[in-house]
Amino acid sequence: MKKTKKLGLATRALHMGNEPDPTTGAIIPPIFQTSTYVQASPGEHKGFEYTRTHNPTRRRLETCLASLENAEYCVTTSSGMAATMLLMQALPAKSSVLCGDDVYGGTYRYFTTICHERHHFNFVDTTDLKKVEKALKQFKPALIWAETPTNPLLKVTDIKGLCALAKKYKAMVVVDNTFMSPYFQNPLSLGADFVMHSLTKYINGHSDVVGGAIMLNDQKMHEKLYKLQNSIGPCASPFDSWLVLRGVKTLGVRMEAHQKNAMRIATWLEKHPNVASVVYPGLKSHPQHKIASEQMSGFGGMITFFIKGGLKESRKFLKSVTLFSLAESLGGVESLIEHPAIMTHASIPVENRLKIGITDNLIRISVGIEDCDDLISDLTQAFNNTY
Ligand SMILES: *Cc1c(COP(=O)(O)O)cnc(C)c1O
Repeated sequence: MKKTKKLGLATRALHMGNEPDPTTGAIIPPIFQTSTYVQASPGEHKGFEYTRTHNPTRRRLETCLASLENAEYCVTTSSGMAATMLLMQALPAKSSVLCGDDVYGGTYRYFTTICHERHHFNFVDTTDLKKVEKALKQFKPALIWAETPTNPLLKVTDIKGLCALAKKYKAMVVVDNTFMSPYFQNPLSLGADFVMHSLTKYINGHSDVVGGAIMLNDQKMHEKLYKLQNSIGPCASPFDSWLVLRGVKTLGVRMEAHQKNAMRIATWLEKHPNVASVVYPGLKSHPQHKIASEQMSGFGGMITFFIKGGLKESRKFLKSVTLFSLAESLGGVESLIEHPAIMTHASIPVENRLKIGITDNLIRISVGIEDCDDLISDLTQAFNNTY
């Protein structure tokens, strides 16, 4: 199928890169589970030499994902962090990078404990464009790394505003779009230079693959990323690529179901007597609800809430749920619950963690697509067991 932007996202998720196998007519393209390809004579081949360099299954996935973010190019990687690493490798050594102050714990750990030997990192609250402009003047970054909504505090950055500022100061912008998925937010269309995804989350959606992707429009930059992918080798495997191609087909219906359940649970939690406060971009009480409504076409499936009390109550509550699984990660069809301070965000020094508001009574849920009544019953019995 020719790349076209006229088709809706749900249609593209199903059909782009998913053309039936031309040799057999199989409706589902096979997995090219191969490391190498035969050549007729030295150098005479069908465009494939070695799977680190090219693989037909991975290529199909890249075609599909590029289309979902309205991008010309996509590079898929063995994890979301590998995609982040490729982008950092693509910058000249000793670049200045300005990063949001509430990003995925692994991103923070990579930047501050490994990649700081290569680049200079500074952190700023990207939801406050005045602070961003001050930092742009002070640090002259080559790149801004923004995550919106953030994890776990679900702060929303004005992507258009951020990209306009970045342009003025000649910085590029990457948006980690993992939480919204391409179904609810398309940062390239709002002015970003790169979109980064952890495919592990909503795009694959079935908690059975770890993967990453970068989508972009700049041809030179794509060549560089592709060259790095081929040289360093963090490419997505054929089998993982095939699983993601399968998982992403239902992105549209899944995201609608996640958001429907999340909206109902967030509204319910907000009225619950054992809850101090709820953060969900779809709630009117969310500080950036207006920007969220403008730049996102939905509010996603992630909810953060503060239960009354502290660590004792959090622990009791998290041990009491039965349908929600206590686990890191997010974006799968099944509901997960976790405690960022002890689990996903443990690598952030305690004083920084508290400064940005990741307290001991903060609980994060990834709302799945189960029957919502069952999810609410489970939370109800967990509250009753805790207090
Ligand atoms: C999970 C995640 C990552 C890292 O992706 P992996 O696939 O786990 O390497 C990066 N950013 C966000 C927002 C994530 O949720």
